[in-house]
Amino acid sequence: MSSHALLPADVRMLERGWLSSNSLLLQGIDEQGAVLIDSGYCTHGDQTLALVQHALADHAQPGLRLIANTHLHSDHCGGNALLSQHFACPIAIPPGDFDAALRWDEAGLSYGSTGQTCPRFVPSQVLSPGSELIQGRRRWQIHAAPGHNPHSVVLFEPEAAILVSAAALWQHGFGIVFPALGRADKACEQGFSEVEATLDLIDSLPARVVVPGHGPAFSDVSAALAIARKRLAFFRANPQRHARHAAKALIKFRLLEIERQSRLGFINWLLSNTVHVAIWQNYFDDQSVADWSLALLQELAEAGALKLQDEAVINL
Ligand SMILES: [Zn+2]
Repeated sequence: MSSHALLPADVRMLERGWLSSNSLLLQGIDEQGAVLIDSGYCTHGDQTLALVQHALADHAQPGLRLIANTHLHSDHCGGNALLSQHFACPIAIPPGDFDAALRWDEAGLSYGSTGQTCPRFVPSQVLSPGSELIQGRRRWQIHAAPGHNPHSVVLFEPEAAILVSAAALWQHGFGIVFPALGRADKACEQGFSEVEATLDLIDSLPARVVVPGHGPAFSDVSAALAIARKRLAFFRANPQRHARHAAKALIKFRLLEIERQSRLGFINWLLSNTVHVAIWQNYFDDQSVADWSLALLQELAEAGALKLQDEAVINL
């Protein structure tokens, strides 16, 4: 069943490919205005605006009254600046990132270390775990969901049993566990145990439909939870495999953004990327960082995720 068919008419999921997270438009009643959960990556800003305007027109909504973010990774809040300006609406974010966002601490917000782009925006409200986001006739519970990101939240609407799971649960896994990329065993284990606690939380919610951060909506929640738990057990036993997977996912994300670059230019970008170099230092420094980076590109090419042609790296 399509994402559209799984959701009620007043809840519209907007998809734009993996570079952007999914967005969810919660329609209002009368002239109330709609709420947008997550706004995608910045390079998709114009497309996101067009999708939002189209969905608003379907429900005769005058505009957005609020943008809310599950967490502040660049693929979830990259459209915040453009959309909040266009609709003159406030932005609500998880409380743990509020101060960093106000100060626009690029390192604390991960844009500096990942080399990802996110135009500055100013939040004015928080999505506090334990409270509700009320929109139209629906009450969306806000739950803390650390693991992928320490400050992330997920939203659950009990009447239609919809879970907005961000990167805590996808149909075939979950997002990179950033806190587990450090070498210190304690921090690593804490990251994985937060993922487990968040999966337990999701298991306790009677969700019938999941709108994940990436990929189509799905209804077989227990199958997705079983896949996620199996993956977690594997990564927990093999943190080095998780680190390698993370490095490759970040390379693929970069290529989704830039599409192609010279091999030398791409390797140089990787060598200047704080997260990439930290993963190498923590897990793979038995070889040079340049050799390791090239090996990752070759593995991604063998998996069909990119093409190494002449002296170029090309997204596939
Ligand atoms: Zn994320």
